[in-house]
Amino acid sequence: MTKSITPTQIKKNNRSLIYHYLYQHPGSSQQELALQLHLSRPTVASNLSLLESEGRISKSGQIASESAGRKAAAYAIVPDFRIALGVELLKNEVKVVAVNLYGKSIARDSFSETYTDTPEYYQMICDKILIFARALPCESSQILGIGFAMQALISADKKSILYGKILSCTGLSLSVFSDHLPWPCSFIHDAESAAISELWASPDLTDAFYLSLSRHLGGSVIAKRTIMGGKHGHSGTIEHIHMRDNGIRCYCGQIGCMETLCSVKTLLADGETIESFFTNVRQGNVICSCRWAAFLSDLAECINLLHLVYDTDFILGGHLAPYLQEEDLLFLHEKIRQLTPFGEPADFLRISKMPQDNICIGAALPYIQGFWG
Ligand SMILES: [Zn+2]
Repeated sequence: MTKSITPTQIKKNNRSLIYHYLYQHPGSSQQELALQLHLSRPTVASNLSLLESEGRISKSGQIASESAGRKAAAYAIVPDFRIALGVELLKNEVKVVAVNLYGKSIARDSFSETYTDTPEYYQMICDKILIFARALPCESSQILGIGFAMQALISADKKSILYGKILSCTGLSLSVFSDHLPWPCSFIHDAESAAISELWASPDLTDAFYLSLSRHLGGSVIAKRTIMGGKHGHSGTIEHIHMRDNGIRCYCGQIGCMETLCSVKTLLADGETIESFFTNVRQGNVICSCRWAAFLSDLAECINLLHLVYDTDFILGGHLAPYLQEEDLLFLHEKIRQLTPFGEPADFLRISKMPQDNICIGAALPYIQGFWG
C-alpha cells in the first residue's frame, strides 16, 4: 500500500529543499528559489521566515530585482548554525579544530601534552576541549559532535581502538573521552579522516589512493567516493607492507615495513624539524638534498608497487604535503617510470588539496555530513 504524503511532510520537504538550495547557492533571492524549486512565492516567503526565525538562514545583502527600482533580499545559510569539533591525538601534541556547516575551520588550537593512558590525561584533554568550545561563537547545544582522530585502527562502531601500537592504546574505549563531554563522540582512523577531508575539498574526486605522509605513514583507498574499510578494517594499511629484509624495525615489530621508508620520522634526523629540513633542501644543502632524493626514491618504489595493484590517482597528503613541489613530483614520476612496465604520464600523482589540519577537519566532517543528510 502506498503511503500518502501529509501536508506537514510536504511543508517539511519544501523547507529542506530551500535550506539545501541556499547552502549550495548562497545569496539567492526569493524569486530565484521559487523559480528553481518550482514553488510558489508565498510558500518560499513563509519558509524563509521560518528558517530565519530558527536561526538557520539570514539575509546576506540585496540583489537587483525583477522590478525596476526595487532590490530583493538575498539569503544565505548561517554557517555557524551548527559546528563540529575534530581532535587529533598525537604522542606529544593534541590539536583541535572547530568546523562550520561548510566544513571550514573557524577556530583551532594545539597543546603540547604527552600521551599517557591515565584518567588524569583524558580528564585534562577534555577540560582543554571544553575551554576551547566555550570560546567558540556558539552555544554548546549547537555543537553536533566531536571526532577523535587516532593513529590506530578503529572498531566498526567507532567506540574502541582495535590496534593502536603507536600510542600503545589498543583496547582503549571512547568512554575515556565521552564520559567527560556533553556531545556525541567517535573515534576515527587518522588516515581515514585525512581522506574524508580530501574528498570534501575535491567534489570531482571519485577514486584515489591517499597517502598520509606524516610522522607516521598511513593510507586510504578511495573508490567511488567511499573509503574502503575492508573485511577486518585494515584496508589501506600500507605502512606494514614488507619492503626490506635488512631494514629498520617498525613499531609493529616487523623489519623493513613501508613505514620505515616513507614516514617523516624516517626522513628527519633527531631534533630536526620538517621546516628546517626543507629550508636546507631548497637552499641546496647537499646532505639534506641527498636524504630527500633517497626518501623520494623509496617513496617511488612504494607508489609503483601500490599503483600496480590499484591503477588510480595517488594523492600525497599529510604533514609533508605543504612542502612538496612540482619538481618533487617530476622526480618521483621519473623514478616510477624506471620501475614500471607501463609508461604513463605523471597525471596520477597529485599533492593534497587539504594540507593544513586535514586530519582534525576530517574527524569533524562526518558530523557535518550527517547534518546535511
Ligand atoms: Zn610495520
